[in-house]
Amino acid sequence: MNKTIAVIRGDGIGPEIVNEAIKVLDVIAEKHGHNFTYVDADMGGCAIDKYGDPLPRHELDKCLAADSVLLGAVGGPKWDSVAGNMRPEKGLLRIRAGMGVYSNNRPAKIWPQLAKASPLKPEIVEKGIDFIIVRELIGGIYFGEHKTYEQGEKISEDVMKYSESEIERIGRIGFETARKRRKKLCSVEKSNVLDTSRLWKAVMHRLAEEYPDVELSDMLVDNCAMQIVKNPAQFDVIVTENMFGDILSDEASMITGSIGMIPSSSLGATSNGLYEPIHGSAPDIAGKDIANPIGTILSAAMMLRYSFDMPKEADEIENAVGKVLSEGYRTADIMSAEEGLKPAKCSEMGGLICRAIKN
Ligand code: NAD
Repeated sequence: MNKTIAVIRGDGIGPEIVNEAIKVLDVIAEKHGHNFTYVDADMGGCAIDKYGDPLPRHELDKCLAADSVLLGAVGGPKWDSVAGNMRPEKGLLRIRAGMGVYSNNRPAKIWPQLAKASPLKPEIVEKGIDFIIVRELIGGIYFGEHKTYEQGEKISEDVMKYSESEIERIGRIGFETARKRRKKLCSVEKSNVLDTSRLWKAVMHRLAEEYPDVELSDMLVDNCAMQIVKNPAQFDVIVTENMFGDILSDEASMITGSIGMIPSSSLGATSNGLYEPIHGSAPDIAGKDIANPIGTILSAAMMLRYSFDMPKEADEIENAVGKVLSEGYRTADIMSAEEGLKPAKCSEMGGLICRAIKN
């Protein structure tokens, strides 16, 4: 199969982790007779430096023309003083909106090999952690009007807005995802305070009538944040709005061992998806060759599964990651005091996973 992949390396550790994912994609292409063509696109701080814009139209167009997009991460202290609408992270919001990818899918699954890296008590981890957060990605407060003005003092406003149709389309993804798993959907909101949440809850319950095989429950976001650390085994699929999903999915990543392990897919109405690890550009470790590239490598596997319909190839990558972890290789973030563990640099991890795919 011939596929064009737009590659956004971005800032900080972005280029290091994306390089490892490309090594793995190349091995898969060679093994299965595929032809992946990579088109580099600039976004984030590096695009600000080059073009004065975190995502110029011509770079977005490269992403829209590709079959899918692989993204490292953007942002960093160098651009912290840049004006709000020109910050590196604006590139992220613009690419999500430009591609129309309204559904972000973030698995929180513990690899048994990393059980000891979880900060949770062993008796909680033993019950299993395997859930997915389906996060609405192009609506809500991140996309509402933002303004700061003077009225004797500075006042800031950020508008949170959701329409029924926006909630319905992400709700359907939640129900469909649950249908393919353990058929339990937890809708997370803040309906005791927010109007948008009351609308969210009403739409979810209306949709539930179309999915009688899926068990729907409601949870307030503050309770959900507690339940994720107290009893994560209760969750199968969580569906929630943009900001709540952003926060909960970072929390969920921590309980599985490291934020560096978690991939994500963002999809809309077409098969052209955006695939990226859930972490940021980690400026504190950039250039040190110690970042964990597995979240990016697993994002590439998700791309093969969801955008290119290559489930076998995706399985091979995921199995190879498991094998390398079982062999004891660990980047610094997932290293523990267990006996027999072998430190691996970022630039080594991709090669180890490639070797496991070949064998
Ligand atoms: P971060 O996710 O970059 O880092 C949080 C912590 O996790 C840091 O200690 C970092 O070293 C560690 N970490 C992250 N990824 C890792 C990996 N692959 N391997 C090992 N350790 C890893 O979050 P932050 O520090 O809040 O943000 C840094 C920058 O990234 C900011 O400019 C922020 O706006 C941006 N950001 C970008 C994205 C994105 O591109 N999708 C997402 C979140 C934050």
